[in-house]
Amino acid sequence: MKKATVVGAGLVGSLWSVYLAKRGYNVDIFEARPDMRDASLSAGRSINLALSDRGWKALEKVGLGDQIREVAIPMYRRVMHAMDGSLTYQPYGKENQAIWSVSRGGLNRVLMDLAEREGNVKINFEHKCKSVDLEKGSATFTNRNTGEQVVSDNGLLFGTDGAFSAVRKAMQRTDRFNYEQEYIEHGYKELSIHPNEDGTHKLEKNALHIWPRGEFMLIALPNMDGSFTCTLFHPYGGEQGFDALDNDEKVRNFFKSTFPDAYELMPNLMEDWHENPTSSLVIIRCFPWSKNGKVALLGDASHAIVPFYGQGMNAGFEDCTIFEKFLAETNEDWDKAMKLYEEERKPNGDAIADLAMQNFVEMRDLTGDPKFLLRKKIEGK
Ligand code: FAD
Repeated sequence: MKKATVVGAGLVGSLWSVYLAKRGYNVDIFEARPDMRDASLSAGRSINLALSDRGWKALEKVGLGDQIREVAIPMYRRVMHAMDGSLTYQPYGKENQAIWSVSRGGLNRVLMDLAEREGNVKINFEHKCKSVDLEKGSATFTNRNTGEQVVSDNGLLFGTDGAFSAVRKAMQRTDRFNYEQEYIEHGYKELSIHPNEDGTHKLEKNALHIWPRGEFMLIALPNMDGSFTCTLFHPYGGEQGFDALDNDEKVRNFFKSTFPDAYELMPNLMEDWHENPTSSLVIIRCFPWSKNGKVALLGDASHAIVPFYGQGMNAGFEDCTIFEKFLAETNEDWDKAMKLYEEERKPNGDAIADLAMQNFVEMRDLTGDPKFLLRKKIEGK
């Protein structure tokens, strides 16, 4: 019987389990958190995400495209909000090309459902990975309720346990494993714009909104319920940094003077401000992404990037597509497929990490610069 263990039932782990199940594997997933489908639990970071072509391709491959499209909102262009409230526009592509706003929790729930519907996938919730045997491709988990230790010894182990991966941590202790971690100066806080009373959106629905302000920015992505999830990307330090915004008056004044049109739409600003954490942003690079033909990393576990290109999840989904391609090409020779996968994906992971940082400068600064806008116009972008 073909068996595999997947650590982490996040976006990438759930999707990768579907790929494995379709190849006939019995998959045991172990997820540290409780089942987000049971209660109105939040999926953690960022309420919505931008899904683009690479992500769609990976979803289409397992027949999920239509289901997700029903709960996704196409964003055809970005709308820039200047200080004086004037708007400028940049299309994302030609002939109705778009990036799509999807709920992180909604997408994750659907992916978990789909994995379980395969019949050969079992998700063990509230089981945290504590140690990994890289030689055997096995791992030990602690049941968070009972304290019981469970060993999953399937001979194939996938670390899809995110930026602070326990599977990668085990690999970090091996010889010639490269690892680099960098926190950027900026963190983020999520805020919201509630719907109109009739449930419609208060800003243009089919767009990604940006308030570019040089060193920082506010963005907003639409949700299906008429609301927008806004994210303030902002430095920790400096006169007006997160650390300095330490009382309600300062926060209100900062918003009033910096994002006046958005401020008007956010009567719930202070509740959100206190309720939602200020979170840091980290870039993680490492190599190799596999060990002994038995253990491999996918998603943020292998390449955590900053979110400014909206490509972290998309790149993780693409890991699944490419891994699958090499499994087919090598007739499921895991040793070969893992090597081909990591060799192809590593340069792409590095490239998107760099592009994501570059896009931060473009979004927060250049999108508000008339010279940049003019150049884009001339280049036909
Ligand atoms: P995760 O989503 O982190 O999932 C990892 C899972 O593993 C979690 O369920 C976790 O509970 C579990 N886990 C962790 N440790 C253990 C353990 N020891 N044992 C068992 N389970 C464990 N990407 C985009 O493509 N588009 C966007 O618009 C976008 N916007 C973003 C906005 C923000 C503010 C941020 C922070 C990120 C954004 N991203 C975006 C990136 C995206 O969130 C990540 O790339 C994506 O979540 C990675 O998925 P993953 O499954 O690899 O990891």
